[in-house]
Formats: sequence, structure tokens, C-alpha cells
Amino acid sequence: MKTVGIVGAGVIGACLAFSLAQRGMRVHCVERAEPGGLTTDASFARLSAVQQPTYARFELSHTGMIEHFRFAEQFYSTPWWHPTGSLAWADDEDGAGPSFADVVRRLDSWGYRTSWSDAARVNRDREPGIAFEDPRTPVVLFPDEAWVDGPRLVSEMLGAAGATGRLKLWNGTVDGIEVHGGEVRALRLEDGERIEVDAVVNAAGPGMPAVAAMLGTAPVGGVATRSSLVIDLITDGDPVRHVLRGAQAHARSAGPGRVRVRSDQIDARLPAGIGSDPDDGIVKDLLERAYRTLPVLESATVDRVRIGTAVFPADGFPSLGPLSAVSGYYEAFANSGITLAPFIGRTLTTHIATGEVHPMWAHCSPDRLRTAR
Ligand SMILES: Cc1cc2nc3c(=O)[nH]c(=O)nc-3n(C[C@H](O)[C@H](O)[C@H](O)COP(=O)(O)OP(=O)(O)OC[C@H]3O[C@@H](n4cnc5c(N)ncnc54)[C@H](O)[C@@H]3O)c2cc1C
Repeated sequence: MKTVGIVGAGVIGACLAFSLAQRGMRVHCVERAEPGGLTTDASFARLSAVQQPTYARFELSHTGMIEHFRFAEQFYSTPWWHPTGSLAWADDEDGAGPSFADVVRRLDSWGYRTSWSDAARVNRDREPGIAFEDPRTPVVLFPDEAWVDGPRLVSEMLGAAGATGRLKLWNGTVDGIEVHGGEVRALRLEDGERIEVDAVVNAAGPGMPAVAAMLGTAPVGGVATRSSLVIDLITDGDPVRHVLRGAQAHARSAGPGRVRVRSDQIDARLPAGIGSDPDDGIVKDLLERAYRTLPVLESATVDRVRIGTAVFPADGFPSLGPLSAVSGYYEAFANSGITLAPFIGRTLTTHIATGEVHPMWAHCSPDRLRTAR
């Protein structure tokens, strides 16, 4: 039976820990902060393939969405899982790139389920609270989309893996990976602890390059960041039933009495890089867009305001699988990590157990991030 170390207990590390433990492997998962508390917590966490620009990337995300349905079916209770479908509409502000209708046509042609309606019908049958500019505004329903409570998924997966008796969760910082004879042997923690392992998976999210650097194999480029202003509101009741991809703002429930909002237009104005506090002007602008979309939110209380930053391979594919230079070292580093986490967990477990490479990993090799471009 193999012993696998995982660096990071975000959504990817936690889903992987569950898969590995379920298939009989011993797992040491090391997390330096709150499990699920970093990117996974700030995420909009929508399961979607709408934003993928190529068929290969679309298929990967679509497969990730389908995997979530299958994944949820194996549990008696699925408190993280909210298969609400989503509603999307555009307005004149979206000038650049293909039109909204063209994007939906392309999704249709790729086999994504879509269904057109109009604002008046949406108000009558689905979302009475949305203020559309015109009752004839075309609105598309993506019935297979969903949102996921990321931190809840993490805690449930760590709990389920723990219940097998094969997971040990460590609260600590990995600061070294021991390699002997070209093979991974142990994780070293900052507090001096040494954990013997047969394999290590770098699932450290934004910390991925720093963890890879411990082996002298940090990416030489090709890593991107994308920031998003995310505001959580406390609401009276639950005014949003679907994930809303509105022309001005996106909104979804964030659990009973809570709504999370963000906006593409606002995010386009955020400075590049990680960190930075949002200024009051931009916060006010996002709130106004959210109020214009859902006037009922004007009476909500602002609970949490933050800029979440995703770090991921710039070509949009995950860095997933083994790195050829170091035997026993694997990466699980992705954009759309909420959508992909159960798929990554299942297929990486298969690879570690059997050496089989999933056909959809064709563009995902960690080696490509080590090739100077
Ligand atoms: C605002 C925003 C919106 C998003 N919207 C979506 C969306 O709608 N749909 C979607 O699918 N994805 C979305 N994403 C992306 C998605 O949230 C991420 O891809 C996903 O959460 C990444 O999970 P992770 O487990 O890789 O990383 P993280 O959640 O960041 O977890 C990595 C963990 O590793 C730990 N760690 C790092 N280094 C070390 C170390 N040396 N030792 C120990 N622990 C360490 C960290 O503390 C952290 O907890 C969004 C992201 C953001 C920021």
C-alpha cells in the first residue's frame, strides 16, 4: 500500500485525499492554515464550462461538471452541492469579443445544455427579484451548472477520508521534500517533523511554485494570476435561486441568508498580482451593480469584502500528473479548481495506483511549465 503526502488542503488536496484513502492508500495531508480557507474560500465556486475558449478546455471543464454529479451520488448527504442551474444575459456594455449569442451557439454545438427564455418569463417562473432593463431581454438557462460550498466540500472530504482511518491531517508548513536517488522519500515540516512518503502531490494552490522550488523545479514561466472582488451579503431570506451571470454583476446564494456577488467589469479594473485591499470606490461600484441587478439586496448587510486571487497555468490547462525530473513528485494545480477537483482526485489516484494516464491529461503535463518559452 502506497503512502502519499499532499501539500495543501484546499479543494483539490481534500478531494484527492478522499480518493486516495478510499482506494486504500495511506495519506498525509499537510495544511499550514485553515483547510479550504485560501483560494477555495474566496472562490465564486460555480461549476461551469461557459468561459472556456477552446473545445479541449471546454471538454475538460464539462467533464469536471459531470464528475461532480457522479461524485455527489456516492454520499448520503451532500451539504456542499447546489445544483441550481444558472441564468445568463448580456447587455450593450459587453462590446469586445464574440457576441453572447455566438458564445451560446458554440456551447450548444459542443453539447452543452442551454435553453433560451426571456426576462419576463424568468421573472415569472424562476427569479422574481431580478430587475431586467427590458422584459424581452434574452436569457439563457444552463441547467447543468451549479455552485459548490468550497470550504464545506473540503471539510466533508477530509472527514470522509479520516473515517477510513487512512488519512492523517497535519497542521504545519511543508518546507522541504527529501529526494534520494531521484525518488521522493519524505516531507519535511517547518517544525522539524519528517513524514516518510512514497509520493508527494503539490496541491498548494498559489503556493505551488514555492513548493516546486524546494526540489529545484519551480515553473520557469507560464503561471498566471487573476483577481476578483468578492462581496458576501447577509440577506433577509434567500432572494437568489440560481447562479446569476448578469450583465452587470454575478450573484449566487452562499448558504441560508447569504448572497455572494462579483462582476467581470469590476475585476477588469483590479490591479494585477496577489494581495491588495479593495478601495472604497470599487466596492461601492460593485454593490451598485448588484443592487441594479437584484434591488432586494439594497437592504442586505455587507458581511465580507475581499479580493480573491486565483493562481494557475497561463494556458488554462491544469498542471496535473507526474513531473518527469523527479520520480514520485506530482502536481495538481488548476484554474477552475472547484469544477475540476473531483475529476483531478479520481484520475490522479488512478495514476498513482496504476501508472495509467487519463486521455484528457493530454495538455496537462507539469513538464510543459518547465520549458523555457
Ligand atoms: C474570486 C475567484 C473566483 C473563482 N471562481 C471559480 C468558479 O466559479 N469556478 C471554479 O471552478 N473555480 C473558480 N475559481 C478557482 C478556484 O477557486 C481554484 O482553482 C481552487 O479553489 C483552487 O484550489 P486549490 O486547492 O488548488 O488551492 P487553495 O484553495 O489555495 O488551497 C491550497 C492550500 O495549500 C496550502 N499551502 C500552500 N503552501 C503550503 C505549504 N508549503 N505547506 C502547507 N500548506 C500549504 C494553503 O494554505 C492552501 O490552503 C475562482 C477563484 C477565485 C479566486
